Amino acid sequence: MITDRLSKESLSRDGSTLKEAARYLKNPGIISIGGGLPTSEYFPFDELSIKVPSIGHFSEQQTHENGQVITAGKHDLVDGSSLFDITTAFNYGQGAGAPQLLRFVVEHTELIHHPPYADWHCTLSVGSTSALDMAFRMFCERGDYLMTEEYTFSSALDAARQMGLSLVGLDVDEQGIIPSSLDHLLSTWDAKVRGGRKPFLLYTVPSGQNPTGATQSLRRRKDLYKLAQRHDLYILEDEPYYFLQMAPYDHSSSAPSTPLQPSTRESFLSSLVPSLLSLDIDGRVMRLDSFSKVIAPGTRIGWVTASAQIADRYAKHADVSTQCPSGISQLVLYKLLDEHWGHAGYLDWLMHLRTEYTRRRDCILGACDDFLPTDVISWIVPAAGMFLWMRVDWERHPRAEEMSISELEERIFQAAVAKGTLVMKGSFFEAEPQKMDQSNGAKGQGMFFRATYAAAPSDMIREAVRRLGLALREEFALADQDVHVPNGSHVNGNGHGEPKA
Ligand code: PMP
Repeated sequence: MITDRLSKESLSRDGSTLKEAARYLKNPGIISIGGGLPTSEYFPFDELSIKVPSIGHFSEQQTHENGQVITAGKHDLVDGSSLFDITTAFNYGQGAGAPQLLRFVVEHTELIHHPPYADWHCTLSVGSTSALDMAFRMFCERGDYLMTEEYTFSSALDAARQMGLSLVGLDVDEQGIIPSSLDHLLSTWDAKVRGGRKPFLLYTVPSGQNPTGATQSLRRRKDLYKLAQRHDLYILEDEPYYFLQMAPYDHSSSAPSTPLQPSTRESFLSSLVPSLLSLDIDGRVMRLDSFSKVIAPGTRIGWVTASAQIADRYAKHADVSTQCPSGISQLVLYKLLDEHWGHAGYLDWLMHLRTEYTRRRDCILGACDDFLPTDVISWIVPAAGMFLWMRVDWERHPRAEEMSISELEERIFQAAVAKGTLVMKGSFFEAEPQKMDQSNGAKGQGMFFRATYAAAPSDMIREAVRRLGLALREEFALADQDVHVPNGSHVNGNGHGEPKA
C-alpha cells in the first residue's frame, strides 16, 4: 500500500475547515454571508489583455509585430463570453487549482502520458520547487534517506537537507541512474551502519537532468521502474525539460545541424521517450510538471500527477499552505493555452521550443569542439534540456599533488571567471559532498562544471566557451594551440581572432 509510505505529517492533514464549508456554495439559491471572499466589486481590474504569438508564428519578432491580443474581462462568465474571468480567477480558489486550467492540464497529461491506471489525478502546484518540498514532507520523516542521482538539482538537495533528510547519491552515466547502483544500494542496505531505515523514495529527473544533461532511455526507465516494484519504492519524477528532447548531435557537420523538426504533431509525440508516469501501472509515481521552462518561470504554476489518494494528500496540504496558485497566472495561462492555442497550438509551441533549444545545444557543442582542450576536458552531448556537463581531468593539473580537489575546482572556477566566463561548479549539485571530502580527490574522482545554453545568445555562448578554453589552457599549462574554426578562419589560444557568431 503506497499510503503506508506517508509521513505522520501527511496522514494528519485534514485540509482547510473553511474550504470544506465552501461546498455548500453549490446549493441552489444559497446566499453566502459566511465565507471571507471579498466581492470582486473592489478588485481594481476591469480587463486584462496579453499579446501572445499566433499559432505557427512563434518568434519574438513575429509576436511583437503580429501577435494576437487576447483579453479577459471582469464578468465574462456571467456574460457567457468565457468560462473564466477576472471575478472568478482573482478571488480565492481551491488548492488543487481552478477547474478551468486544471481541465486543460488533465487533458494534456492524458494526451502525452496516457497514465495506465484509472484513478490518476492532477493537482496544480505553484511550481515544482514547491511541489518537491511538499512531496518530501508527504513521504519522509526527519532522519530518512532520500535517493537521487549523485548530482542533481541543488534546490531539491537544499530542501531535503533543510528538512533533516539524508541524501544518498546513485551512480549515473549519460543515461542517468545506473539501475545496478540502485539495486546494489537497496539490496545491501544496513540500517544500523547507515543510521536510517532502508530508503523508499527516489527523486529523479529523467530527461535533460539538471546538472548532467542525462536522459534516460525507455529501456533505462523500464529497468528503474522494475526495480521500484521489486523494492517497493515510490518515485518522484521531476520533468521540467521533458519537451526539450532533441535529435542526436552531428559532430561531423561544420554547418549547424538541422534540428529535429518532426513534420507532424503525431511524430513529435511519438519521438518523446515515454515518461515513468506512462509506465506506472501501480500508482507509485508522482510526476511533477512545470510551466517554468516551457512558458515562463514567473507563472509559478505547474502540476503534479499521482494516484487519487496521493493527489488528495497533496491538495489537503496545498489548501492550508499555498492556498491556491495565483489566480492572475491561472487566468493568463488559461487564456493562452485553452482559449487561444488549444492543445494542438500548444504542441506546436513545444515543437518550436525544442527546435530552438536544439539550435542552441548545437551551438555550444560546436564551440566546445572548436575551443576546448580535449586532453583535459570532456563533455556529455545532451539529448534534452538546457545543460552541458563537463568533466575536467584535474589529475593533469600541475598542482594536483599539492591541492585538494575542491581547492582545484575553486581555482579553475575562478580562472574562468577571471577570463569572463561563469560556469557552475559541479560540487554545487552533489548529493553526497562528504564523499568527496573523505576521498579527498582519490584517483578517478570526477571534477565537473555545468554550463547552460539556455541563457545567452549564440555569439555570446561561443565567446564564453572560447574564454573557458583559454582559462583551462593557462591553468593546465597547455601550449597555445591553433584552434580550427569550421568557417576557415583560425583562433589561437591567446584568443586573438574574431569570435564566430
Ligand atoms: N526541477 C528541476 C530539475 C529544475 O532544474 C528546476 C529549475 N531549475 C526546477 C525543478 C524548478 O522548477 P519550478 O520553476 O517549477 O519551481
